[in-house]
Amino acid sequence: MTSIRQLAKDVVEYVLALAEDDVGLAWRPGQFISIACGRRDDGEPILRSYSIASLPGCGTVDLVVKLIEGGAASDWFRRLQEGEAVRFTGPMGFFVLDLVHPGDLVFAATGTGVAPLVPMIREALGRDEGGRVHLLWGLRSEEDLFWRAEIEALAALSPRFQHAIHLSRPGDGWAGARGRINGAAIELLPSLARPTFYLCGNGAMIKDLKAALCERGIDRKRQVRTEAFFDG
Ligand SMILES: Cc1cc2nc3c(=O)[nH]c(=O)nc-3n(C[C@H](O)[C@H](O)[C@H](O)COP(=O)(O)OP(=O)(O)OC[C@H]3O[C@@H](n4cnc5c(N)ncnc54)[C@H](O)[C@@H]3O)c2cc1C
Repeated sequence: MTSIRQLAKDVVEYVLALAEDDVGLAWRPGQFISIACGRRDDGEPILRSYSIASLPGCGTVDLVVKLIEGGAASDWFRRLQEGEAVRFTGPMGFFVLDLVHPGDLVFAATGTGVAPLVPMIREALGRDEGGRVHLLWGLRSEEDLFWRAEIEALAALSPRFQHAIHLSRPGDGWAGARGRINGAAIELLPSLARPTFYLCGNGAMIKDLKAALCERGIDRKRQVRTEAFFDG
Protein backbone atom coordinates (compact mmCIF):
# COMPACT_ATOMS: atom_id res chain seq x y z
CA MET A 1 0.00 0.00 0.00
CA THR A 2 1.59 3.22 -1.15
CA SER A 3 1.17 6.89 -0.43
CA ILE A 4 2.67 9.42 -2.77
CA ARG A 5 3.90 13.00 -2.23
CA GLN A 6 5.65 15.37 -4.62
CA LEU A 7 8.77 16.72 -2.90
CA ALA A 8 10.34 18.81 -5.66
CA LYS A 9 10.40 19.07 -9.43
CA ASP A 10 10.58 15.45 -10.65
CA VAL A 11 11.27 14.16 -7.13
CA VAL A 12 8.52 12.09 -5.52
CA GLU A 13 8.30 10.35 -2.16
CA TYR A 14 6.67 6.91 -2.09
CA VAL A 15 5.78 5.62 1.37
CA LEU A 16 5.30 1.86 1.34
CA ALA A 17 3.30 0.72 4.37
CA LEU A 18 4.58 -2.73 5.32
CA ALA A 19 2.13 -5.62 5.21
CA GLU A 20 1.27 -7.17 8.59
CA ASP A 21 3.68 -10.08 8.04
CA ASP A 22 6.54 -7.68 7.22
CA VAL A 23 6.11 -5.08 9.95
CA GLY A 24 9.20 -6.43 11.72
CA LEU A 25 11.35 -6.04 8.58
CA ALA A 26 14.81 -4.98 9.72
CA TRP A 27 17.32 -2.85 7.86
CA ARG A 28 20.27 -0.59 8.51
CA PRO A 29 20.09 3.05 7.41
CA GLY A 30 21.84 3.22 4.03
CA GLN A 31 20.50 -0.06 2.67
CA PHE A 32 18.30 -0.34 -0.41
CA ILE A 33 15.52 -2.47 -1.85
CA SER A 34 15.05 -3.84 -5.36
CA ILE A 35 11.68 -3.24 -7.03
CA ALA A 36 10.23 -4.88 -10.11
CA CYS A 37 9.07 -1.74 -11.90
CA GLY A 38 6.84 -3.40 -14.50
CA ARG A 39 8.07 -5.55 -17.37
CA ARG A 40 10.03 -5.03 -20.56
CA ASP A 41 8.49 -5.89 -23.96
CA ASP A 42 10.19 -9.32 -23.77
CA GLY A 43 8.43 -10.03 -20.45
CA GLU A 44 11.54 -9.65 -18.25
CA PRO A 45 10.99 -7.58 -15.08
CA ILE A 46 12.50 -4.09 -14.95
CA LEU A 47 14.52 -4.26 -11.74
CA ARG A 48 15.74 -1.07 -10.09
CA SER A 49 17.30 -0.31 -6.72
CA TYR A 50 16.04 2.37 -4.32
CA SER A 51 17.60 3.43 -1.04
CA ILE A 52 15.42 3.35 2.04
CA ALA A 53 14.85 6.88 3.27
CA SER A 54 13.08 5.96 6.52
CA LEU A 55 14.42 4.66 9.79
CA PRO A 56 14.02 1.00 10.73
CA GLY A 57 11.10 0.27 13.03
CA CYS A 58 8.88 3.07 11.71
CA GLY A 59 6.53 0.66 9.88
CA THR A 60 7.06 2.13 6.41
CA VAL A 61 9.72 1.86 3.73
CA ASP A 62 10.02 5.38 2.32
CA LEU A 63 11.61 6.04 -1.07
CA VAL A 64 12.66 9.32 -2.64
CA VAL A 65 12.72 8.90 -6.39
CA LYS A 66 13.97 11.20 -9.10
CA LEU A 67 11.70 10.67 -12.09
CA ILE A 68 13.85 10.62 -15.21
CA GLU A 69 12.37 11.66 -18.54
CA GLY A 70 11.95 8.48 -20.61
CA GLY A 71 13.27 6.17 -17.85
CA ALA A 72 11.50 2.80 -17.76
CA ALA A 73 11.22 2.67 -13.96
CA SER A 74 10.42 6.38 -13.80
CA ASP A 75 7.47 5.83 -16.17
CA TRP A 76 6.27 2.97 -13.96
CA PHE A 77 6.51 5.17 -10.85
CA ARG A 78 4.59 7.95 -12.63
CA ARG A 79 1.73 5.51 -13.24
CA LEU A 80 1.77 4.12 -9.68
CA GLN A 81 -1.45 5.03 -7.80
CA GLU A 82 -1.96 5.69 -4.09
CA GLY A 83 -2.94 2.44 -2.35
CA GLU A 84 -1.38 0.14 -4.97
CA ALA A 85 0.76 -2.71 -3.66
CA VAL A 86 4.50 -2.60 -4.48
CA ARG A 87 6.58 -5.77 -4.38
CA PHE A 88 10.24 -5.61 -3.45
CA THR A 89 13.17 -7.72 -2.35
CA GLY A 90 15.67 -6.72 0.28
CA PRO A 91 16.80 -4.84 2.22
CA MET A 92 20.33 -5.29 0.92
CA GLY A 93 23.62 -3.47 0.48
CA PHE A 94 26.73 -2.64 2.46
CA PHE A 95 26.55 1.17 2.35
CA VAL A 96 25.93 1.50 6.09
CA LEU A 97 27.73 3.25 8.93
CA ASP A 98 30.89 1.65 10.23
CA LEU A 99 30.32 0.16 13.67
CA VAL A 100 32.67 2.71 15.22
CA HIS A 101 34.16 5.94 13.84
CA PRO A 102 37.48 7.26 15.09
CA GLY A 103 36.67 10.90 14.20
CA ASP A 104 34.51 13.19 12.06
CA LEU A 105 32.00 12.13 9.42
CA VAL A 106 31.37 13.76 6.04
CA PHE A 107 28.25 12.82 4.10
CA ALA A 108 28.22 14.08 0.52
CA ALA A 109 25.32 13.66 -1.90
CA THR A 110 24.02 14.84 -5.22
CA GLY A 111 20.24 14.98 -5.82
CA THR A 112 18.30 12.03 -4.42
CA GLY A 113 21.59 10.61 -3.14
CA VAL A 114 20.63 12.35 0.09
CA ALA A 115 17.83 9.76 0.62
CA PRO A 116 19.95 7.15 2.46
CA LEU A 117 22.24 9.77 4.00
CA VAL A 118 19.62 11.47 6.19
CA PRO A 119 18.70 8.26 8.07
CA MET A 120 22.43 7.44 8.32
CA ILE A 121 23.02 10.89 9.81
CA ARG A 122 20.18 10.32 12.28
CA GLU A 123 21.83 7.04 13.29
CA ALA A 124 25.24 8.72 13.60
CA LEU A 125 23.89 11.59 15.73
CA GLY A 126 22.12 9.10 17.99
CA ARG A 127 25.42 7.40 18.77
CA ASP A 128 27.68 8.12 21.65
CA GLU A 129 30.46 9.38 19.34
CA GLY A 130 31.92 12.83 19.70
CA GLY A 131 32.98 13.63 16.12
CA ARG A 132 31.46 16.34 13.96
CA VAL A 133 28.96 15.33 11.28
CA HIS A 134 28.90 17.29 8.01
CA LEU A 135 26.40 17.04 5.16
CA LEU A 136 27.31 18.50 1.77
CA TRP A 137 24.41 18.29 -0.68
CA GLY A 138 24.65 19.32 -4.31
CA LEU A 139 21.68 20.10 -6.53
CA ARG A 140 21.09 22.11 -9.65
CA SER A 141 18.61 24.80 -8.57
CA GLU A 142 16.00 25.77 -5.98
CA GLU A 143 13.25 23.77 -7.70
CA ASP A 144 15.20 20.54 -7.06
CA LEU A 145 15.36 21.12 -3.30
CA PHE A 146 13.42 19.10 -0.72
CA TRP A 147 13.76 18.05 2.95
CA ARG A 148 15.11 21.47 3.99
CA ALA A 149 12.97 21.50 7.14
CA GLU A 150 14.11 17.97 8.06
CA ILE A 151 17.75 18.92 7.63
CA GLU A 152 17.32 22.19 9.58
CA ALA A 153 15.65 20.16 12.35
CA LEU A 154 18.69 17.88 12.55
CA ALA A 155 20.91 20.94 12.88
CA ALA A 156 18.68 22.28 15.68
CA LEU A 157 18.84 18.89 17.40
CA SER A 158 22.60 18.48 17.49
CA PRO A 159 25.45 20.97 17.69
CA ARG A 160 27.65 18.22 16.18
CA PHE A 161 25.82 18.53 12.84
CA GLN A 162 26.57 21.07 10.10
CA HIS A 163 25.28 21.18 6.57
CA ALA A 164 25.68 23.11 3.35
CA ILE A 165 23.40 22.97 0.32
CA HIS A 166 25.21 23.78 -2.92
CA LEU A 167 23.30 24.83 -6.03
CA SER A 168 25.17 24.67 -9.32
CA ARG A 169 22.63 26.94 -11.08
CA PRO A 170 20.97 29.01 -8.37
CA GLY A 171 18.49 31.81 -8.96
CA ASP A 172 19.40 35.41 -8.05
CA GLY A 173 17.86 35.15 -4.57
CA TRP A 174 19.89 32.13 -3.42
CA ALA A 175 21.86 32.97 -0.27
CA GLY A 176 23.34 29.50 0.25
CA ALA A 177 26.47 27.89 -1.19
CA ARG A 178 27.13 27.78 -4.93
CA GLY A 179 28.97 25.41 -7.22
CA ARG A 180 29.72 21.75 -6.80
CA ILE A 181 30.25 19.95 -3.51
CA ASN A 182 33.62 18.42 -4.37
CA GLY A 183 35.50 21.69 -3.85
CA ALA A 184 33.69 22.22 -0.54
CA ALA A 185 34.66 18.73 0.66
CA ILE A 186 38.32 19.40 -0.14
CA GLU A 187 38.16 22.75 1.66
CA LEU A 188 36.80 21.01 4.76
CA LEU A 189 39.72 18.58 4.91
CA PRO A 190 42.18 20.62 7.04
CA SER A 191 39.52 21.11 9.72
CA LEU A 192 38.64 17.41 9.97
CA ALA A 193 39.95 14.91 12.51
CA ARG A 194 40.38 11.31 11.25
CA PRO A 195 37.36 11.63 8.92
CA THR A 196 35.21 8.95 7.32
CA PHE A 197 33.42 9.92 4.08
CA TYR A 198 30.06 8.59 2.87
CA LEU A 199 29.45 9.57 -0.78
CA CYS A 200 26.17 8.90 -2.58
CA GLY A 201 24.47 9.78 -5.85
CA ASN A 202 26.05 10.64 -9.19
CA GLY A 203 28.87 8.19 -10.00
CA ALA A 204 31.00 10.89 -11.65
CA MET A 205 30.89 13.04 -8.48
CA ILE A 206 31.85 10.02 -6.39
CA LYS A 207 34.74 9.04 -8.66
CA ASP A 208 36.16 12.57 -8.81
CA LEU A 209 35.77 13.26 -5.11
CA LYS A 210 37.23 9.91 -4.10
CA ALA A 211 40.26 10.54 -6.33
CA ALA A 212 40.71 14.07 -4.96
CA LEU A 213 40.49 12.85 -1.36
CA CYS A 214 42.96 10.04 -1.96
CA GLU A 215 45.42 12.47 -3.60
CA ARG A 216 45.30 14.38 -0.32
CA GLY A 217 46.13 11.41 1.87
CA ILE A 218 42.69 9.96 2.63
CA ASP A 219 42.80 6.18 2.71
CA ARG A 220 40.34 4.87 0.09
CA LYS A 221 39.61 1.60 1.90
CA ARG A 222 39.47 2.75 5.48
CA GLN A 223 37.98 6.21 5.10
CA VAL A 224 35.70 6.29 2.04
CA ARG A 225 32.34 4.51 1.59
CA THR A 226 30.33 4.98 -1.61
CA GLU A 227 26.98 4.24 -3.23
CA ALA A 228 26.70 5.23 -6.92
CA PHE A 229 23.11 5.53 -8.17
CA PHE A 230 24.23 5.78 -11.80
CA ASP A 231 27.44 6.30 -13.78
CA GLY A 232 26.98 10.03 -14.35
C1 LIG B 1 22.03 1.01 -4.85
C2 LIG B 1 21.18 2.02 -5.61
C3 LIG B 1 20.27 2.80 -4.92
C4 LIG B 1 19.49 3.74 -5.62
N1 LIG B 1 18.65 4.53 -4.91
C5 LIG B 1 17.93 5.50 -5.56
C6 LIG B 1 17.09 6.39 -4.81
O1 LIG B 1 16.95 6.29 -3.59
N2 LIG B 1 16.44 7.36 -5.51
C7 LIG B 1 16.57 7.52 -6.87
O2 LIG B 1 15.96 8.44 -7.44
N3 LIG B 1 17.36 6.67 -7.60
C8 LIG B 1 18.02 5.67 -6.97
N4 LIG B 1 18.81 4.80 -7.71
C9 LIG B 1 18.73 4.87 -9.18
C10 LIG B 1 17.57 3.96 -9.66
O3 LIG B 1 17.88 2.59 -9.42
C11 LIG B 1 17.28 4.07 -11.18
O4 LIG B 1 18.48 3.95 -11.88
C12 LIG B 1 16.62 5.40 -11.54
O5 LIG B 1 15.35 5.49 -10.87
C13 LIG B 1 16.42 5.54 -13.05
O6 LIG B 1 15.72 4.42 -13.52
P1 LIG B 1 14.86 4.51 -14.88
O7 LIG B 1 14.53 3.13 -15.32
O8 LIG B 1 13.72 5.47 -14.70
O9 LIG B 1 15.83 5.20 -15.91
P2 LIG B 1 17.07 4.53 -16.68
O10 LIG B 1 16.71 4.42 -18.09
O11 LIG B 1 17.54 3.31 -15.95
O12 LIG B 1 18.15 5.68 -16.42
C14 LIG B 1 18.23 6.80 -17.24
C15 LIG B 1 19.38 7.69 -16.81
O13 LIG B 1 18.95 8.47 -15.71
C16 LIG B 1 20.07 8.89 -14.93
N5 LIG B 1 19.75 8.64 -13.50
C17 LIG B 1 19.51 7.46 -12.87
N6 LIG B 1 19.21 7.65 -11.57
C18 LIG B 1 19.28 8.99 -11.37
C19 LIG B 1 19.08 9.81 -10.23
N7 LIG B 1 18.75 9.30 -9.00
N8 LIG B 1 19.24 11.16 -10.38
C20 LIG B 1 19.56 11.70 -11.57
N9 LIG B 1 19.76 10.95 -12.69
C21 LIG B 1 19.62 9.63 -12.59
C22 LIG B 1 21.25 8.12 -15.44
O14 LIG B 1 22.04 8.97 -16.26
C23 LIG B 1 20.64 7.02 -16.25
O15 LIG B 1 21.52 6.57 -17.22
C24 LIG B 1 19.61 3.87 -7.03
C25 LIG B 1 20.52 3.05 -7.72
C26 LIG B 1 21.30 2.14 -7.02
C27 LIG B 1 22.29 1.29 -7.80
